Amino acid sequence: MSAMRIWGIALLAASVVATGAPAQFRPPGWFVDDGALRKGHKGEWLTHGLDYAETRYSPLDLITAANVKQLSLAWSFDMETRRGLEATPLVSDGVMFVSSAWSVVYALDAKTGDLIWKYDPHVDRNYGRRACCDVVNRGVAIYRARVYVATLDGYLIALDSATGKPVWQTPTVDHKRGYTITGAPRIVKGKVLIGNGGAEMGVRGYITAYNADTGELAWRVYTVPGDPSKPQESPALEKALKTWTGKFWEAGGGGTVWDSMAFDPRLDLLYVGTGNGSPWMESLRSPEGGDNLFLSSILALKPDTGELVWYYQTTPGDSWDYTATQHMILADLTIGGRVRKVLMQAPKNGFFYVLDRATGELISAKAYADVGWATGVDQKTGRPIEAPGVRSQSPLMPMMQKPGPLGAHNWQPMSFHPGTGLVYIPARMDAFPYMKDPKFVFSLVPGVWNYGQIASPTNDQLPPGSGELLAWDPVKQEARWRVPLEADWNGGTLATAGNLVFEGAGDGRFVAYSADRGEKLWESPTGVGVIGSPMTYTLAGHQYVAVLAGWGGAASLFGENRSGKYGVPGRLLVYALDGKGKTPPAVASRAVPAALDYNKDLAYLQKGSALYAAHCVMCHGIAAISGGSIADLRYSNESTLKMYPKIVLEGAYQPMGMPPFGDRLKPDEVEAIRNYVLDRRAAITKTSEKSNRR
Ligand code: CA
Repeated sequence: MSAMRIWGIALLAASVVATGAPAQFRPPGWFVDDGALRKGHKGEWLTHGLDYAETRYSPLDLITAANVKQLSLAWSFDMETRRGLEATPLVSDGVMFVSSAWSVVYALDAKTGDLIWKYDPHVDRNYGRRACCDVVNRGVAIYRARVYVATLDGYLIALDSATGKPVWQTPTVDHKRGYTITGAPRIVKGKVLIGNGGAEMGVRGYITAYNADTGELAWRVYTVPGDPSKPQESPALEKALKTWTGKFWEAGGGGTVWDSMAFDPRLDLLYVGTGNGSPWMESLRSPEGGDNLFLSSILALKPDTGELVWYYQTTPGDSWDYTATQHMILADLTIGGRVRKVLMQAPKNGFFYVLDRATGELISAKAYADVGWATGVDQKTGRPIEAPGVRSQSPLMPMMQKPGPLGAHNWQPMSFHPGTGLVYIPARMDAFPYMKDPKFVFSLVPGVWNYGQIASPTNDQLPPGSGELLAWDPVKQEARWRVPLEADWNGGTLATAGNLVFEGAGDGRFVAYSADRGEKLWESPTGVGVIGSPMTYTLAGHQYVAVLAGWGGAASLFGENRSGKYGVPGRLLVYALDGKGKTPPAVASRAVPAALDYNKDLAYLQKGSALYAAHCVMCHGIAAISGGSIADLRYSNESTLKMYPKIVLEGAYQPMGMPPFGDRLKPDEVEAIRNYVLDRRAAITKTSEKSNRR
């Protein structure tokens, strides 16, 4: 039946062309079916990671290491937001589909950037409070003339690719819990796959498959067990239940599938990565220990039913927010003289894993970053060898750990170049003082962080982070080359047959390197720090490279925007050889704010720090360092600092996106938060953090 429908569209398209009407009447993406997704389509970018293997390696070679110096802006598009931008644009039939903050979708002419349609799901702005890491969206899916977007407030929506009008929509989360969606849907065998996020809020993770045609639910697979007094949904969960203790289900357990997926059509296996525990610290979640399956794991599922075929847990009994939701790449590598079908992942925990993707067997694991929590991975058991004492967390003695909760690699996709044999990892590093809240009580109030950490770090508890572009040899499990980057929060990577690797730098540049040696060959200012995931396509004999520039996402938790002021509008930047667009200005430095008096009493500062950690951190950043899409409170002007009760309790800045917290905070608590912010401000008025971070 669906084949008939597609055939009907094809006939319609042919007749439209025959009558001389404009070709755009053929719905874009009409030919994107299972075969097209499997084979790929030269010159187009049809699914999130370019192909089912999620390689982000493009065979396009019109732009090369030899001519990349001629690359310049062809066109740009105002994404109408000052929030984070993380999407990978898709291109089909000359139309680009790209999502913005608040799950807004644009269809643009991929040659000119002209707007074809815009779809705004009008996400309730109060959902911003539930998002751990900004109101971002990492992209859409295309299938049979439809565009699929999952919204921050938990709906999966199918749009008509020609008009942007919804065809169907379905809720895919329990709106009473702290679920949000920021990930891109994938399409496998006629099903739309979508997970969700919210482990910091306290949810039970799962992934759902929907019939792409009708929106009917096909299957749902939970990643952690539920209430043990009820039967578990599958034999796999019955087994997983034995690895948990205590009343873990009350806070949901976590294990959300918030980003990464890949598919092997020959093995007929769908791979998904699962997130951290909820709350973070195992002793608060599962007091008598246990591995807590399937947290921080890679799951191989049957795409028709969701049945679990194998799993590999990267961080048993996770206590540090070490998600395994980071981008996975499938490749065939010659290891020890044998061609192995592998799955590669560089999760937050700092180890690069090469698994046999048919069986889940560990082939190798090696630290790709500075790792403090484990000394290695045991080749026989596949388990990490934990360093002594890593599970002690006390509010009195913060446990400094490497990597921190943003990981040695986060959502920013890596890429794999089959020619160089290298994986290009947007790597990063920070240490983080974990502080367990011994009095942690789970709260169902939407937007309250249930991560069980007592406080946001105070001054001098946060050493500066560092970022790098890391070219990793997955066979030898060693670095081939690395390029240190000034910011610790940079964009995803794209590898091309032109011997190129593209990456956006957090300090506001889009850069091309040679893929084999890591030489910087070209760069262009982007006008705003931090960049999304670059992609490339061809149209009428020209190759284009597109990337979103807009600081936000988890950068708003830890990052330091180099822009002169917060809220620089994000843009879609599209480059071509000898492009004629106007390059954005370079990112300017920010002025140091004036010093102000405040109460330096330690107990009072700690009260403010704890309140800040519970209510403010998810938007304004850990230690009050904001990524800049949302106001960096340390840099507020004095009139704003005087208006705290009106802003925080009554919603005076609601039009700017700041929701009122009168339902959760009292005036004296607001003053304690304000005082903590002033303490954090004092740190930058004393010594410029910028100079520290260089
Ligand atoms: Ca997390």
